[in-house]
Amino acid sequence: MMQQIYPVPDHDYAYELNKEFHFSAAHYIADESAGKCQYTHGHTYFVNITIAGGQLNQIGFLADFKTIKDLIHKRFDHTTLNEDPVFSNQQVYFPTTEVVAEKVYEIIQGYLNNLDNQPVCLQVFLRETPTSYCIYRPKGETDQ
Ligand SMILES: [Zn+2]
Repeated sequence: MMQQIYPVPDHDYAYELNKEFHFSAAHYIADESAGKCQYTHGHTYFVNITIAGGQLNQIGFLADFKTIKDLIHKRFDHTTLNEDPVFSNQQVYFPTTEVVAEKVYEIIQGYLNNLDNQPVCLQVFLRETPTSYCIYRPKGETDQ
């Protein structure tokens, strides 16, 4: 849902940046308990990533919007999620909405960790269908 305002946890950071984009991907949940979802099917995932921090970099960015999108979109758009190492290396979990949201967080935070101004990803909002979405928030980040 473009141009939507998303719920965000309270925080004291001076800057909060939100980047929104979507990608199309296939997945399957290879377990009988998943019902029809055990068969390969596709979604257009809508993503909103919330990043916060107290300092901008030399050119006035908290983090680069395009890099944030590219890290996720270039990696997952028009792929089968199950085949990406971030999912296929897991022993138990399949790329459910919850797990995809968590992995998106890990990829983004991994990028942010390398920035001198040290922004943090507060939240990943991941919409899988018009009626279903998941919010992943790392534990502890909003406690400061
Ligand atoms: Zn699905």
